Order: sequence, then C-alpha cells, then structure tokens
Amino acid sequence: MKITFLGTGSACPTHSRNVSSLALQLPEMATMWLFDCGEGTQHQILRSPLRLSQLDCIFFSHLHGDHLFGLPGLLASRSLQNAGHTPVTLFGPPGLEDFVRVALGVSHTHPGYPIKFQVLEPGVIYENARFQVVCAPMHHRVESFGFAVLEKPLPGAFNIELAHSLNIPEGPLYGRLKAGETVTLSDGRVIDGKRLVGKDRPGRRFAYTGDTIYSNSAVALGLDADVLVHEATYLQADEMQARRGFHSTAQGAARTALEAGAHSLYLTHFSARYETGPQLSALLQEAQAIFPQTALAYDFLSVEIPRRDHNDKCLHDEDMAPAGA
Ligand SMILES: [Zn+2]
Repeated sequence: MKITFLGTGSACPTHSRNVSSLALQLPEMATMWLFDCGEGTQHQILRSPLRLSQLDCIFFSHLHGDHLFGLPGLLASRSLQNAGHTPVTLFGPPGLEDFVRVALGVSHTHPGYPIKFQVLEPGVIYENARFQVVCAPMHHRVESFGFAVLEKPLPGAFNIELAHSLNIPEGPLYGRLKAGETVTLSDGRVIDGKRLVGKDRPGRRFAYTGDTIYSNSAVALGLDADVLVHEATYLQADEMQARRGFHSTAQGAARTALEAGAHSLYLTHFSARYETGPQLSALLQEAQAIFPQTALAYDFLSVEIPRRDHNDKCLHDEDMAPAGA
C-alpha cells in the first residue's frame, strides 16, 4: 500500500509542482487508484514507475478544474495500453459523467473499454474482501468529498512451534487451523485453530481530504489514519484568503491531524505564491508546531504506508521532505 504524489500545487501548475493527483498502489490487488486527476496527470505517470494499465478506479474529491482537467486525455491514452480493455470506475460528485461524455463526445474519442460512473454519497462507496473506501463530505466552495481507504484486519500469525509441539501433522490441517477452524485429529484430539493463531493485525488506514477548510468531518475522516494527506494551501498570514476560498492553512490541517489521532500528516495543494522563497519552510513549521509528524509533499514523493504491528511510528525520516522541496 503505497501513495505517490503526482501533483502538489493548487490552481495552476508551476515549474516544480503539477496540479492535484495522487496515486495509491495496492499490490495485493495488482491495481492502482487515483485520487483526483489534474491536467498533466498522465504525463506525471509517464515520468514515474506507475503504469496507467493498472488503473481501475479514480476518485474525484470535487470538480474544480485543477482536480479534473487531466481526465479526458488520460482516458484516451489508457485505450492504447495493454490492459486498455478492462473497465474503469469513476467516483465523483454529480456532473462528472456529463463532463466526460461531452469531452469524449465532441472530440470523437471512443475508449475501447467500459467507463462506469458512481455518484458519491457519504458512507461506504467501495468494498471487497480486503479494502473498504469510505467517503465523507468536506467543506469547500463547491460540493466536495474526502476519502478514507481502510484495510480490513488481517489474521494473526500462525504459531507453527505450538503446532509442532502438539504433534499436529503438517499438511492441509494447518490451512484449516490457520483459518481458525476447529479440527479433529486422527487420534481423536480436538484442536481449536484460534489457539494457534495470534490476534488479528490492524489493517492500514489512509485518508485524503481533497480541498476543504477545517471541518469536523475531516477530523472524522482522518481518525487514526496511518497517513493523512491534507491540503494546506495557505500560511496563517493568508488566513483570510483561505477562508474566502474554503481552503485550509497549515495550522488548520495540523489541528485536524492532531484531533484525528493520525499517525502522520502530509501537506499538499500549496499556493503557487509560495513556490520560491522561504514560505514553504514557514508553512511546515506552522504545522509541526501543532503536529510534529508533518511533512511537505512534493511531486513524485512516494510513501509506503507501514503496517502498525511492525512499526508504531509511521513517518520515516527518509520520507520527510526538505522544506521547500
Ligand atoms: Zn477546489
């Protein structure tokens, strides 16, 4: 479970930051999802180790252009990829389907695969045996949603030493005991598999707010997240600007992470006005004063979301972006 930032600037691209998009790789499912798809996202994917052919879901937080305008070109290019016949599902607020139909229709673009649309509503919007995606309304100028990807708990480790000491014959019985079943051995002993399996391991939790001003809903979304990705468009000095645009300051994002009990916070969606100069260092400092486990995202930063039972501290030193990067 790994995220890669494909665009970390707001409104318009700069030399060093593209507009919003974030990839989530799920090796367990051999798939990749995108969260938002600003203009140029497919170029960013080309410059990364990611493969468009693995993409099967895109989640749109809202329909502002800097989160959306990369979609038609990306859909067209995907047709030409190896796996370009498999379906893609687009999750977004009302209007997304109209946008795609018009953009593809007037340009006579005919992707050779089905495109499914799912209009966002609060609650569980995706579920399989391994993961659940929950969506919640945020607080922005237009209808806007955040997403949490929640891995289901994993079964605990099988205690093979104990199985040996009980003289349980190796083979298919082990599989049934690992699954927690109760089995009867040939000598008549009854063994409860739960005795041989450790406690469930917690699943990983990733949350992405999209654009929002501070809100209780964002706090709830980020609850106990291993990695919370939160927009931080402005410094505190520009708070009035943030309020006008229903965007967050770094302090607002850090407060959200703190109240949510998140384990690490990555800030993104920075105003282009801070691109040069010391402002991004200041932005990081403002956030770290409230929530020390904060890092600034930059384009192509990849972060492996760690399992908690291996490492309680989720933010690794090597993940920390140098201020202004
Ligand atoms: Zn927006």
